[in-house]
Amino acid sequence: MPTTLSADELIASVPKHLLIGGRWVAGATRRTLAVDDPATGTVLCEIADADVEDGRQALDAAFEAQDGWADTPARERSDILRRAYEIILSRTEDLALLMTLEMGKPLAEARGEVAYAAEFFRWFSEEAVRVDGGFSRTPDGRNRILVMRQPVGPCLLITPWNFPLAMGTRKIGPAIAAGCTMVLKPAPQTPLSSLALARILQEAGLPDGVLQVITTSRPGDVVAPLLRSGQIRKLSFTGSTQVGRVLLAQCAEAVVRTSMELGGNAPFIVFPDADLDLAVEGAMTAKMRNMGEACTAANRLFVHRRIADEFGWRLAARMRSLRVGAGTADDTDVGPLIDEASRRKISALVNDAVSRGARVLTGGTAIEGPGYFYSPTVLTEVDLSSEMLKTEIFGPVAPIVAFDDEAEIVRTANATDWGLVGYVFTRDIDRALRLCERLDVGMVGLNTGLVSTPAAPFGGVKQSGLGREGGRVGIEEFLEYKYVAIPVRG
Ligand code: NAD
Repeated sequence: MPTTLSADELIASVPKHLLIGGRWVAGATRRTLAVDDPATGTVLCEIADADVEDGRQALDAAFEAQDGWADTPARERSDILRRAYEIILSRTEDLALLMTLEMGKPLAEARGEVAYAAEFFRWFSEEAVRVDGGFSRTPDGRNRILVMRQPVGPCLLITPWNFPLAMGTRKIGPAIAAGCTMVLKPAPQTPLSSLALARILQEAGLPDGVLQVITTSRPGDVVAPLLRSGQIRKLSFTGSTQVGRVLLAQCAEAVVRTSMELGGNAPFIVFPDADLDLAVEGAMTAKMRNMGEACTAANRLFVHRRIADEFGWRLAARMRSLRVGAGTADDTDVGPLIDEASRRKISALVNDAVSRGARVLTGGTAIEGPGYFYSPTVLTEVDLSSEMLKTEIFGPVAPIVAFDDEAEIVRTANATDWGLVGYVFTRDIDRALRLCERLDVGMVGLNTGLVSTPAAPFGGVKQSGLGREGGRVGIEEFLEYKYVAIPVRG
């Protein structure tokens, strides 16, 4: 459906306050924080900046609502998610424009994220009514074992800026389905999508107190007391490994359950028998989705030496053809980075790689502002000691490293603390399965550059995280087991 609102009207229509106990409130201090447009560097609007006291009130509201929400029939919870799914889809254009304004991604990608985000609600509306338990006998036949599944309790959900809508629905969907109340803390760079989403959930009939939204410029101060309170029973976090570690330590104090979706350093491996057209297309997707600002982004492109040159120039030609500009323009392929700090980091990584011998096939430069643009870049002959191979680039830079041998490249690919996703391109079925088994990752894209779908268990191993989101297991993260021992006499 085409948008009926201009950008200004759209921004004006979004709630700017905190959502606590079903009411939109300005917050204890009435302070505000600015939301910027990364394509221009200008302020889009001001929103409420929550303080520690607001965080406490939000938690109290979630705690208060928990028992009633857990008792709400699953069918009702499912119907709310289904209605929200329909509303989101009916407002695709408005939500996409809002996301583009606050985050920068091109409109076409934002529309894709709206569909992806909505799909989590549809998926979990279907899961809500399929939660079951168990009944069995002990091996000696004397006792019965009744196993119940119950909501884990009030949850704290913390989301990053790179997928402003989908990272929220991926957590809110299963929490609603399982019967948990929640406090959502979106990233301060992109809160508008979450605020618009909360309004949609209200329209869909979500009872007061089930979802609170607190936006804040001081996440550390606001979140730490919540995790220590003893009332939060679960933290579901998506963000950097660095912040994830801090939160895991805080959760340890009050033994809070966690799901952690953290950073990645994805290897993208192309064997000489691969379909090269497919591999280049896959690299474009795995590298350039979201301007490279994705945890799943191909971060290290390992290409067999026999085809490394051809792959490099083909990829460079595709990257050169991309149009860089404001995400709101219809013909834009690549939007701005989220902020100047990110652009500076990427420039430094490229300079470091070049100083170690990398050749620039295309790009390699920051684009003059306004806005935080960086040119789509392909580097080849990147030395393994380069900093960009050891950290998340989080930008439109594809570093190519040539390799000779399968066993060697598996070792190199696994030589990182991260393990979110890996991509493998080969037509050899034995090699494909070997690689799928041997890569230390939670997900593999086999001859594809895209793994994300609500129907699959998304998540990583090693320092890429704990737990999974989506798929059949997504709801499990929000459920507890309770077992009842029943002796049967006679
Ligand atoms: P970030 O870790 O800086 O912030 C994530 C969230 O944590 C934000 O809401 C932020 O305000 C909050 N936060 C920051 N410090 C905090 C603290 N001390 N206490 C509580 N909350 C705090 O990450 P980002 O820059 O917003 O997002 C990019 C990162 O997210 C990348 O590392 C990316 O790989 C990762 N990511 C992972 C996945 C996944 O599914 N594995 C998905 C998207 C993004």
